[in-house]
Amino acid sequence: MSAQKAVCIIAWPAGHSRSPLIHNYWIEQHKLDAEYRREPVPPKELADFVTHLHERGYIGANVTLPHKQAVMALSRPDERASAVGAANTLWYEGETLRSTNTDVEGFLGNLDIAAPGWDRGLENAVVLGAGGGGRAVVFALLARGANRVTVVNRTAARAKELQKKFGARVQLAGWNETSGLLGGAGLLVNTTTLGMVGQPPLELNLRCPASLVVTDLVYAPLETALLKMARARGLRTADGLGMLLHQAVRGFELWFGIRPKVTPELRALVEADLLKKK
Ligand code: NAP
Repeated sequence: MSAQKAVCIIAWPAGHSRSPLIHNYWIEQHKLDAEYRREPVPPKELADFVTHLHERGYIGANVTLPHKQAVMALSRPDERASAVGAANTLWYEGETLRSTNTDVEGFLGNLDIAAPGWDRGLENAVVLGAGGGGRAVVFALLARGANRVTVVNRTAARAKELQKKFGARVQLAGWNETSGLLGGAGLLVNTTTLGMVGQPPLELNLRCPASLVVTDLVYAPLETALLKMARARGLRTADGLGMLLHQAVRGFELWFGIRPKVTPELRALVEADLLKKK
């Protein structure tokens, strides 16, 4: 029998996920006898697929749209997945199928590399958006010790839910207050789809101190208008592709016991793929 280890991404439809590119790069780099595959699984087959993941020959998996919430009930979520309410990575702890959300680590890891010291004495972070990405970012910022996280979201009820979940360190504000808030903020994060290819632009006045760090979860385009504007003002920035690459690190480590590196070569590989499929 082959000793080859297999991991997959569970999605429906198969999607354009860059996870196979990223993980197969690391598999090759570390000369592992392993393979990362795509598994298109429709929602009605998810429970059967995940329950028999091991029997199908897999030691773990990534999970993406539309299964990120449903997979929680089919596994034992860790603290991050429970707090965010969605999981994107599955692995076995003994015989138990565990789940986690690696966006939390991806967000923090990317900022730590791109803007070292960004979290020192962080008084207020302004987060635009309260969807899946927004929840992971708010959890990550509170875990890192931000005194206050101000959430700005189009749908007020969704932002209120987030405040209810995470408590009084989360404050809410309206879109028209955003520019005013930036004067006293150390970090601005866009977690909305605004500025993404095919979506409306993110319109924002970046009147802020030179110490503001700006990060965008959107990675298509690679350089969003927000990041371009921030760089033109000399602000430190961290981009969405960096987060995407860093969120993959934890999954690889859980499956193979090796902490892989986000190298310039890997980044160039994924950048080229994003540009090709634009
Ligand atoms: P989501 O759960 O669907 O949330 C979308 C967010 O965008 C919500 O806050 C939504 O506000 C807001 N929004 C959408 N259209 C808007 C509009 N016209 N005006 C104002 N707000 C609008 O999506 P998600 O999973 O969080 O993903 C959001 C973005 O982050 C995507 O571009 C995704 O690719 C990116 N992302 C990147 C990474 C990474 O690793 N780089 C990780 C996760 C997500 P409402 O609540 O009002 O609808």
